[in-house]
Amino acid sequence: MKTILCIGAHPDDNELCVGGTAAQWAVAGNRVHFVSVTNGDRGHFASEYIANPQLLAERRLGEAIAAAGVIGATYQTLGIRDGEVYVDKAATEAMVRCIRTCGEPGKGPDLVIFNRPQDYHRDHRYTSQLVTDASYMLTVPTLCPEIPHLLRMPVFAYWHDSFKDMVPFRPDVIVPIDAVMDTKTRMVAEHESQVFEWLPYNHAAGGEVSVPAGKEERIAWLKAALQARDGARRADVAAARPSAEIASACVEAFQLCEYGTRPSLADLQNLFPSTAI
Ligand SMILES: [Zn+2]
Repeated sequence: MKTILCIGAHPDDNELCVGGTAAQWAVAGNRVHFVSVTNGDRGHFASEYIANPQLLAERRLGEAIAAAGVIGATYQTLGIRDGEVYVDKAATEAMVRCIRTCGEPGKGPDLVIFNRPQDYHRDHRYTSQLVTDASYMLTVPTLCPEIPHLLRMPVFAYWHDSFKDMVPFRPDVIVPIDAVMDTKTRMVAEHESQVFEWLPYNHAAGGEVSVPAGKEERIAWLKAALQARDGARRADVAAARPSAEIASACVEAFQLCEYGTRPSLADLQNLFPSTAI
């Protein structure tokens, strides 16, 4: 059994970016733990949440626990306010503690998944920086001495993004997810304040928001949206690795990070679902 730690800035980032892979890790008997650095308390337009962001934070905590629960994963938030991730001493040490306490003492997680440092959202950029900054310090016993330091470094990997201007994403591992799209959809659907409320509103940019009202219609609508998103990801990944044989319309993909343990091919085949290329 492996311990996989997925770290996003917001409560729904992990399900959207690695939900299909996480479902396969969980089914294979691995421990999956989702972390969001922020509590997501700014992701809405309703006046009640503008007046009382804590209400939204509480709602999103329930949603994230339910979403992780779909595959038997666990969830925690570091509790930083949405839009306020800064790379400072407190946040860096919170990240060190978080990673060290995931998995067995001294051993930590086998694999840490997060986003690359180039990203449109400031919280995403600085979450990536926090994980990167924490990585080496995991093994340093004099930092956060109350939590046992790690005696080995995890493997670190970035999830896919399509940003190109700095350095394009390199798909080292491609995971087919067609067979688990229903599970991924059920996970993402638990974030109803986001996928059925805030994100359609935000994307409409003042235009008309049209989300189906019925529960089944909503799930079908969301699944189609995720298939479009993860299908576009397949096209992006296929363009970056034209020799890859990808027998799946939807994929998730990962780029190995230069920091932490550098896995061998055998390690990779052990860490990622057996269907991965
Ligand atoms: Zn996010």
